[in-house]
Amino acid sequence: MINRIQVIFGLTRVGAKNLCRSCLVSFLAFCGQLLPMFVFMFYLQGLLSAKLPAFWLFLLLVLGAVLLLYGVIYWDYNSTYTLTYQESGNIRRDIAQTLQDLPLSYFSNHDLSDLSQTLMSDVERLEHAMSHALAKTLGFLLFFVLMAIFLLLGQPLLGLAILLPILLSAGLLLLSKGLQKRETARYWRQLRENSESFQEAIDLQEEIKAYNLSQHLAQSLYQQMDKSEKIHLRSEIMQGLPVMLSGIILRFSLALLVMVGSLLLARGQVSLLYFIGYLLANIKIIDGVEGIYLNIAEILYTDSAIKRIRDLRAQVAPKGRDFDLTSFDIEVRDLHFSYKKDQEVIKGLSFVARQNEVTALVGPSGCGKTTLLRLISRLYDYQKGQILIGGQELGDLNPGRLFDYISIVFQEVSLFNSSVLENIRLGRPTASDQEVMEAAKKANCQDFIERLPQGYHTLIGENGAKLSGGERQRISIARAILKQAPIVILDEITSSLDIENEKAIQDSLSHLLRDRTVLIISHRLKSIENADQIVVLADGQLDGAGKHQELLASSPVYQELVETAQLIEDFKYHS
Ligand code: ADP
Repeated sequence: MINRIQVIFGLTRVGAKNLCRSCLVSFLAFCGQLLPMFVFMFYLQGLLSAKLPAFWLFLLLVLGAVLLLYGVIYWDYNSTYTLTYQESGNIRRDIAQTLQDLPLSYFSNHDLSDLSQTLMSDVERLEHAMSHALAKTLGFLLFFVLMAIFLLLGQPLLGLAILLPILLSAGLLLLSKGLQKRETARYWRQLRENSESFQEAIDLQEEIKAYNLSQHLAQSLYQQMDKSEKIHLRSEIMQGLPVMLSGIILRFSLALLVMVGSLLLARGQVSLLYFIGYLLANIKIIDGVEGIYLNIAEILYTDSAIKRIRDLRAQVAPKGRDFDLTSFDIEVRDLHFSYKKDQEVIKGLSFVARQNEVTALVGPSGCGKTTLLRLISRLYDYQKGQILIGGQELGDLNPGRLFDYISIVFQEVSLFNSSVLENIRLGRPTASDQEVMEAAKKANCQDFIERLPQGYHTLIGENGAKLSGGERQRISIARAILKQAPIVILDEITSSLDIENEKAIQDSLSHLLRDRTVLIISHRLKSIENADQIVVLADGQLDGAGKHQELLASSPVYQELVETAQLIEDFKYHS
């Protein structure tokens, strides 16, 4: 039962248990709300039978009823709200943990703004539904079933007069559920598209200004807003209309009860006290049902959010055993991989990158070099073949532990908006300030860090916005030097740098690459001519492997690459 609730509402186990508890409390709160009615009935019975209870007894009963009611309402509030806020915290932590463990493939197949929306606004919607609607609705359903049994047992005809219109109106609402869900999902999809478009417009400011696209972009955003407004209106109508119709049918319940009740009263088949009791019960139930209809609308509104939270939390992270490596050869054996079904990018590749050697991967653009580096660092899982690191199959190894052995420097460097010191320390979080500064010196960061207003303690802006590309790259090399991992992967690290930065980085590489297994991609063929081994890829397959001179003689793809590189070097601008 707890498991089922957990799955249906996308909650944690604690959250599902707390929801059950809140439902029970909310059920008791609904029962508690009947207390004033019972006190009134008690008084009326005394009045009708001319045996009016003593005033103090009546007063005591009223006081007792009010106190009990407030007690239950306070308990209800406390359990529903406090536990709900705890649960939304738990869900966010749970999602963050899931995201942390997921492979990169998940992120490349999903929109990042979608994921952050799920983490923030979807959980917020679920939180609101849980605190305002879910427990109350479920608690009321329990209460309604109990009341229905009592009403039918007490006087079946009066009971039916109350229940039939209510069931009819609820049926109508249920029938419209599919339509409501569809319209709401459409509206949320549109909202997400809007936020993506806005984010894109903000991210691409440089291009928009450079190509004078502001007008054009504003036009398309306005059109998108118009479309959203229409979809929003439609979804509101599709939600409001069934609720309104159901509300009208609901009101018939009172009319039917008065008709049937007066008839039975006239025939002497029911006492006045009973009739009044049913009338009061009816008013109470209608009130409750109306409130619940609005709550159900909110729950349906939350449905698409719950689905996304559920899907995200159901993702299975790659697992593997803990391990220790003592040797660091990387052996790729008949490797196959595709990002999308039936579109292989790596097609049966085999080679060995030896420990203490530099292995360079070269090949035409799109031949699979970056993909291969991603597979070797288990950012993606391959489908067929093997990658062995130190003789152990990569697919069996715990990905978290694997990163203790690998340093990766990418072409695009990601930095956090914290100090230079902390950004470098990410390479080894336990490193002292002194060790961080030594790594920075080895990576030739010293000169530009000294120029920053607070030196190592300067905040470097969102994604290092206050630093140049070359400076960011040097920080990422300092990170890798600090990490001292036995395997180093470099992906086009100098491709978009100016000469000064490239020189500074080349000087720092000797500290990073000494006595490691190094895998490197660089389109500057000159820089890898002295590599211990050059692996030439063409369309996901091996075209050749060996030293520069050997490949010039044996690999047509390598010859072509070298010739093209020469042409690029000789290029001169002219009009
Ligand atoms: P290279 O680094 O040699 O230029 P890549 O490994 O980046 O080549 O890409 C190899 C092929 O895989 C290309 O056709 C590219 O379009 C495709 N590809 C790369 N990354 C992805 C991805 N995340 N999803 C789908 N296809 C991808």
